[in-house]
Amino acid sequence: MLSEFDLIQDYFVTPPSSDPRIQLGIGDDCALLKPDAGMQLAISSDMLVSGRHFFPDADPYLLGHKCLAVNLSDLAAMGAKPLAFNLALALPEANRGWLAPFSAGMLDLAKEYKCTLIGGDTTKGPLTISITVFGEIPPGQALRRDSAKAGDDIWISGELGDARLALAHYWNELKLSDQDFAIAAKRMHQPTPRIALGLALRGIAHAALDISDGLIGDLGHILKRSGVGASLHADLLPAGAALRNFAHHQLRTQSQDHSNNKQREFTLAGGDDYELCFTAPSELRTQVLAASISSNTPVTRVGTIDSESGMRLFDAAGQPLALALTSFDHFSTP
Ligand code: ADP
Ligand code: MG
Repeated sequence: MLSEFDLIQDYFVTPPSSDPRIQLGIGDDCALLKPDAGMQLAISSDMLVSGRHFFPDADPYLLGHKCLAVNLSDLAAMGAKPLAFNLALALPEANRGWLAPFSAGMLDLAKEYKCTLIGGDTTKGPLTISITVFGEIPPGQALRRDSAKAGDDIWISGELGDARLALAHYWNELKLSDQDFAIAAKRMHQPTPRIALGLALRGIAHAALDISDGLIGDLGHILKRSGVGASLHADLLPAGAALRNFAHHQLRTQSQDHSNNKQREFTLAGGDDYELCFTAPSELRTQVLAASISSNTPVTRVGTIDSESGMRLFDAAGQPLALALTSFDHFSTP
């Protein structure tokens, strides 16, 4: 039998960190953090529940990766540098065959982003993984949701829609080729937190967030908090490779309209993308592109912030689009 304390020791205790900011890690009643002099702490939690956020039989290595990745994504969206994280875990059973790959997936990513596991809690219960991440940021430099200004450009990192495309395949809404499914599933299971871009955008971007519930809804949060509106070019949105292939294939077999709509629907309202959406003054386009190069993260300019409230969508020809798309919401989406 694997006891609670063996479980923590075997799968979550790592050798003492050489990071001077981690003064005390796992093992005491509290961990002790000492952020670098003058730095502010950025703190965020994300919880993943079996059957709600992932399939109960999800690959444990990929699940470990994703749970931490979505938390790191919040630090990225704030322009914060990762420091440490706490892990609260409810497990139906202490199963080494599940725990070993789960902790490896999580700790491999933690090492890559120099984010140390410093504590947590472990209990028996329906599989639930709750992480709290801590990051650092110089005071006044956080990329907040309430700081977009009329005239700002709207930018998106990477590509959108592939995670939602994979979900559509799992749900039998459509059928992907094996190759497209492999690409889309990787985007769904192994999102890349855009930490390097977030750091490079400090002092350049006005507002930012990570797209977890779909661009339209998430951008809506920036608009609401900043008291502004937006014009968005739906057909400039960077679609993922699998979604582009899928749309291209549909174009040959069905009407053009249908393929366009799937591409628009999944880039505008897909969810689970974990790309950054940020706004920046149009005078700083060169600096944004330099941040994209230095962080090795592609960015695309997709619209502008307006003083008039509401969101206006345009197609490739500049014609207004009327789309009834909504974002994911846990309490109003079935
Ligand atoms: P307490 O009784 O104070 O809640 P625990 O006995 O639950 O402490 O935990 C012992 C130590 O192990 C603490 O330092 C706690 O932060 C850490 N810990 C517990 N569960 C986890 C976990 N899933 N991952 C990392 N650290 C954990
Ligand atoms: Mg405890």
